[in-house]
Amino acid sequence: MIDLRSDTVTRPTPAMLASMTSAPTGDDVWGDDPTVLRLQAAMAERTGKEAALFFPSGTQSNLAALMAHCGRGDEYIVGQQAHTYKYEGGGAAVLGSIQPQPIDNAPDGSLPLAKIESAIKPIDDHFARTRLLALENTIGGKVLPAEYVSEAVGLARSRGLATHLDGARAFNAAVASGQPIAALCAPFDSISICFSKGLGAPVGSVLVGSKALIDSAHRWRKVLGGGMRQSGVLAAACLYALENNVERLADDHANAAHLAQALAQIEQVKVTSHATNMVFAEFPAEHCAPLEAWLKERGILTQMLYASRFVTHLDLTRADIDTFVASVKQYFAR
Ligand SMILES: *Cc1c(COP(=O)(O)O)cnc(C)c1O
Repeated sequence: MIDLRSDTVTRPTPAMLASMTSAPTGDDVWGDDPTVLRLQAAMAERTGKEAALFFPSGTQSNLAALMAHCGRGDEYIVGQQAHTYKYEGGGAAVLGSIQPQPIDNAPDGSLPLAKIESAIKPIDDHFARTRLLALENTIGGKVLPAEYVSEAVGLARSRGLATHLDGARAFNAAVASGQPIAALCAPFDSISICFSKGLGAPVGSVLVGSKALIDSAHRWRKVLGGGMRQSGVLAAACLYALENNVERLADDHANAAHLAQALAQIEQVKVTSHATNMVFAEFPAEHCAPLEAWLKERGILTQMLYASRFVTHLDLTRADIDTFVASVKQYFAR
């Protein structure tokens, strides 16, 4: 199958699986799984932070970070389109007793500084206590400009707020912008990074930050049911991804640019944006369901909506992209 629905669909390769089956393991709840410890040390070093913690998912990593930063009755400022607000089941409120204060994202994914400023509440018993600013990079595939990040974090800090980055695709941002991952992480108190997206691991996210923050997140991970045992098997896949699948993200970005350009040639398709490994395009509403079915019959998986998202990843070649585009053309030529 040619699967353009997400970069989460990649399968572990034989080499990745071999690294998993040969990984030394221990019991990570007892803190003695050597492969988990190795991944955490590697990520702390690579991101320039004091400590790192392995999680089963990015949702749990983000939530544990929010709970480490904010207590009951505190609030965090976050984008309407942010994963931690919109796509994580409201976990911060449901499980953390943390009030989200969502504000509209600008088209480039940033949160306008004036809106952040006016959302910060004064110390007053009427208000939740504003504690944290949470940004996302990449967001909708877009890389947040470095100058914007430093201004937004500077504003947050000047008002006494901590800062968290949902960096599920931070390595895509680093590769696309030519910044070292440590530079991208430097402004933030905590960063959550996914291995199950473009990096191609089957499972896993890592939260990085100060030792104190990670100690607190460690406690919340246990509370949230994220304490795992011989998880070195999973951490080995992430270490393999870290060593082998970071630089090649540039191929995914080139494939997405190629896809955007090829789709734009089709009269019925309107490409609205593309960045890093994502392409967004609009299709005539009446064609969405039949086109999705037509593609599926030809071994191509998409989620065809009026505004559709296509994501490139390491299981998609340039030839796969061309096959997809040719099938869309065929459909409209019938
Ligand atoms: C995928 C993703 C996450 C975490 O998702 P999980 O499926 O829980 O690993 C968080 N933020 C963003 C932006 C994501 O794309």
